[in-house]
Amino acid sequence: MKKIESKLLLWIALIAILIFASVPLWHINLNTARPQTHVVKKKHKKVVHKVTWGYPFKKLYEKKIKFKSGQKFGETDVIRRYYPTKSYFHDGYDFGFSEVGHSTVYAVHAGTVHKVKYTPGLGLYVWVISKDGYVEIYQEGFLSITDIYVKKGQKIKLGQKIGRLTGSHIHLGITKTDKDYIDKHGVPCHYYWKDNGTWLNPMKIIEDDIAKGKASKS
Ligand SMILES: [Zn+2]
Repeated sequence: MKKIESKLLLWIALIAILIFASVPLWHINLNTARPQTHVVKKKHKKVVHKVTWGYPFKKLYEKKIKFKSGQKFGETDVIRRYYPTKSYFHDGYDFGFSEVGHSTVYAVHAGTVHKVKYTPGLGLYVWVISKDGYVEIYQEGFLSITDIYVKKGQKIKLGQKIGRLTGSHIHLGITKTDKDYIDKHGVPCHYYWKDNGTWLNPMKIIEDDIAKGKASKS
């Protein structure tokens, strides 16, 4: 009889040990379920947008300028007033000195200076090609070569000093390397009269990028 009793006790003890031993297993199961909820949370986390575009003038960060004297991108009535029968498409954005002052011009996007040249119509211009395929032309605003601070082949960063606006306005043109933007004379102004997608709206690109950066931070 005693032998059977002790055997029974042994079984009870064994079962009790098994039950207690399995308790941590339930915890492990709960813990393994948790990381899955972390993954779901991560999906909702905002990715911070890195701003790669900027204004060409410091003043534009300080206040919203309406640019009444300068000509905006696209179909404006400025040229129409003078040439009513001709196309009135404007292939860039003009920043007038009366609004931004005769002040420093900053690079709106990082890139490499492809050319610094003078050509009638564009005046002295800075032609920048960016790694992401964008092309930026700063034209008409530099009266003297000493007003330009960068040279051919130079790598420039966003916000780097390009030169100084000394003329009545600077015209900023933005296109892409895969577009047919170079004319037969090698000047980066092909289709300046035509709204065919070659020339993009510079202020839209800049402001959309800055806004995206602000939204991702908030
Ligand atoms: Zn212009």
